Amino acid sequence: MSSLIQAIRGMNDILPDESHRWEFFEDAVRAWLAGYGYRNIRTPIVEQTDLFTRSIGAVTDIVEKEMYTFVDHLNGDSLTLRPEGTASCVRAVLEHNLLYAGPQRLYYYGPMFRHERPQKGRYRQFHQVGVEALGYADADIDAELIIMCARLWRQLGISGVRLEIGTLGSTEARAIYRARLIKYFEQHQDDLDEDARRRMHSNPLRILDSKNPLMREILAGAPRLLDDLDEDSLKHFEALQRLLHDQGVDFEINLQLVRGLDYYNRTVFEWVTDKLGAQGTICAGGRYDGLIAQMGGKSAPACGFAMGIERILALMAENEIPKPAVDIYVVHQGEIATSFSWKAVEWFRNEGLSAILHCGGGSFKSQMKKADASGARFAVIIGDDEAKEGEVSIKPLREAAEQVRVGLAEAGSLLRRI
Ligand code: ATP
Ligand code: MG
Repeated sequence: MSSLIQAIRGMNDILPDESHRWEFFEDAVRAWLAGYGYRNIRTPIVEQTDLFTRSIGAVTDIVEKEMYTFVDHLNGDSLTLRPEGTASCVRAVLEHNLLYAGPQRLYYYGPMFRHERPQKGRYRQFHQVGVEALGYADADIDAELIIMCARLWRQLGISGVRLEIGTLGSTEARAIYRARLIKYFEQHQDDLDEDARRRMHSNPLRILDSKNPLMREILAGAPRLLDDLDEDSLKHFEALQRLLHDQGVDFEINLQLVRGLDYYNRTVFEWVTDKLGAQGTICAGGRYDGLIAQMGGKSAPACGFAMGIERILALMAENEIPKPAVDIYVVHQGEIATSFSWKAVEWFRNEGLSAILHCGGGSFKSQMKKADASGARFAVIIGDDEAKEGEVSIKPLREAAEQVRVGLAEAGSLLRRI
């Protein structure tokens, strides 16, 4: 016998005993987004590699080491499994000229791919819900995006997530800051790890995002962007804080917040929990006013965030989410009975009930065992006797109650009543 083929490391199956939790989450998210007027956009999972190198930035974890890139052997194109959703969303918006109709509130949902070391809360295929508000310049939309997250956590029964906000200022302010940062890192070269030393001149801001605990001290002493912050960005940051305050959303200011992607400016934010160990960020986002022009579109401001579904579901692990159960399991024996049971089971479905028709024959006894194992609330028993009269017997499987025999027409309404 040949050995069984297994799933790729870091890419998970979501089995039926678990998938109802995903469906619960997906339903909640769809209703939540509709409540804010955000519309769904669906883009391909594979894109031209250039899309990501140009938008995310060449000197980032994602582009340097995490992308699943391969050559399309039919034409030699370099293609990449999407590591995040914003680049594809912006590409589609530009390709189809959606901003022509005015600003857009959009969201996407689906798998993302990053070649990382798999561990709890960090996978190679993981899922994100991402929300993008394109064409909006003011801090009101930044606030809306954050406030809507707070509502989602409440609706999902998630507690103990804190909000950190920061600002990256304007491109010009960041350039001044960048120079100061390089100078600081040059003075402390011996305390930097290999990654940091390599990025010191190409992307010094990214060093602030380092997860290496040995770098903590050196980073704590690094200069702060706030001192170089431009007037407009400062006003924007203050307006955001006022709005959050007015809406009763607590936050901490964290000026070390950088985000893993290059395209952010001004507002950045993260929702963080202490309950998931090192993988504590469940949602992250910010403003990216330069990206649309950088990708060849007519310059337009934008702001968005993405949340990691696996991490959110891990936080919800203790929440009781009922498993969906089927209403009826139909058992049948005899030629007339079987023919009638096909009609009966469709009739129940027309009545809005869910029903499994027993397949594969067998004795009544063995069929009843399957009915019980299915989790159905009722067994509907059809023998030739019942079938000849157009009747069915209903046996409750989860409570002590009498079996009753009724006409098919009454059975649906009777079952719906109980
Ligand atoms: P991290 O710092 O944890 O690597 P990131 O900055 O790379 O996160 P983003 O690109 O901002 O993450 O993605 C948004 C969210 O997606 C993260 O906050 C996290 O919840 C989730 N996420 C990112 N990478 C993974 C992964 N490999 N596995 C599971 N979830 C992930
Ligand atoms: Mg990462």
